Amino acid sequence: MAELAELDNYQQRACRLIDKNVFFANDLQSIAMAKAICESCVIIQECYETSIANREYYGTWGGVSEDQRQRVIINKKPKSA
Ligand code: SF4
Repeated sequence: MAELAELDNYQQRACRLIDKNVFFANDLQSIAMAKAICESCVIIQECYETSIANREYYGTWGGVSEDQRQRVIINKKPKSA
């Protein structure tokens, strides 16, 4: 998977002019705001997939909150033998 910054439309991402603290705050209002911004983003799917592949534990990425994504990452851990 390509890095987000390598995508042709990376410069059109919805968060490019937004304070990054919105995406890394843990209060419900900030999380809702970050998710709403992501919903209008041209690379939302790539952002989500990259955050899972890179095991990003913190922040809202691709419209998915930290808590939601951590559950996905934990469920993708290889099962021990
Ligand atoms: S999906 Fe959200 S966090 Fe990802 S690039 Fe777009 S606006 Fe930024």
